[in-house]
Amino acid sequence: MAGGDYCLEAVRRINSRGGRAPHLALRFDSHLFSIDTSRAPKACVQPDAYLITHAHSDHYGKSAMNSPRAIASVQTARALEIRYDREYKGRTFEVGQSIVVDDVRVDTHTTGHTIGSTAFSWQTETGEKVLVTGDVKDYQHLPKCDFLVSEANYGDTYDPSCIFEDDIAAFSEALDEGASFGAYAFGKAQRAVALMRAMGYRDEIGMDDKSLQLTNELLGPAAGPLAALNGAAINVVTPWNLNLVRSRAKYFLTGRRDTTYPTIQLSDHLDFRGLMRMIEHVSPERVLVYHPQGTRAGLLAHHLQECGLDTTSLDCIDRFVR
Ligand SMILES: [Zn+2]
Repeated sequence: MAGGDYCLEAVRRINSRGGRAPHLALRFDSHLFSIDTSRAPKACVQPDAYLITHAHSDHYGKSAMNSPRAIASVQTARALEIRYDREYKGRTFEVGQSIVVDDVRVDTHTTGHTIGSTAFSWQTETGEKVLVTGDVKDYQHLPKCDFLVSEANYGDTYDPSCIFEDDIAAFSEALDEGASFGAYAFGKAQRAVALMRAMGYRDEIGMDDKSLQLTNELLGPAAGPLAALNGAAINVVTPWNLNLVRSRAKYFLTGRRDTTYPTIQLSDHLDFRGLMRMIEHVSPERVLVYHPQGTRAGLLAHHLQECGLDTTSLDCIDRFVR
């Protein structure tokens, strides 16, 4: 790309109450792709696509899933249906496949954040390569790009809690002692079960209803045998159900420090160093940090600017659609 000669711009939608709809849309050529945002009311400008990176509630698939223009992986669509008990109305794809939206070929890439979590990439008519990551745990499958739209969940260089490593050894020891684990039903529970199976644990794992359904459907045969809550010696349950679990030892799988139960660090995210390595890996010319709400997107954008990278964040977008 010639310096500054961009035909791609980030815009935000003004919602019916005059506020800003979540996240953003990208306008390029004759297209408008919304990213991890809620469905626009009928009177508003309609995007060509609602790209849904994954089924966590702060990415607004609950709303976007009601549109035929929603685009999500098979697993994300199914997770949304289970979580919100309604039909997903959009299009689906297998992660790694390409889909055509109008005349734009959109490639999809796994990010290892949840089962089915997806980054999207495409090229504008002038050849600018766009990459939208969603939340990321594993960046190895992401392609190089010119314009990166990415997350900053652990994007604060000055916050010590943004530097961490998963404590796989502690998890393995807890498994050996017959502990049960508190894990959010979508995302962390599947990570925990997959990890237990990878460690060779073959017995039944007890789970509460939503965790069990999500894990069975998203992991498939790799989930191994699952049972109802307390139907097995070891349970993986949503954290607020840990008090119902009969196991003696209980751990909350989280990076949080403010919990009643002892914790084991097991994250669905890259830490700050991982985010920096990811950005180096995809080597963009421009970056827009779009998630999460709060200060971290701005803080990571500021850090990247200081590193000499042309970066902005969601709160600096000054173009709007209604
Ligand atoms: Zn997420």
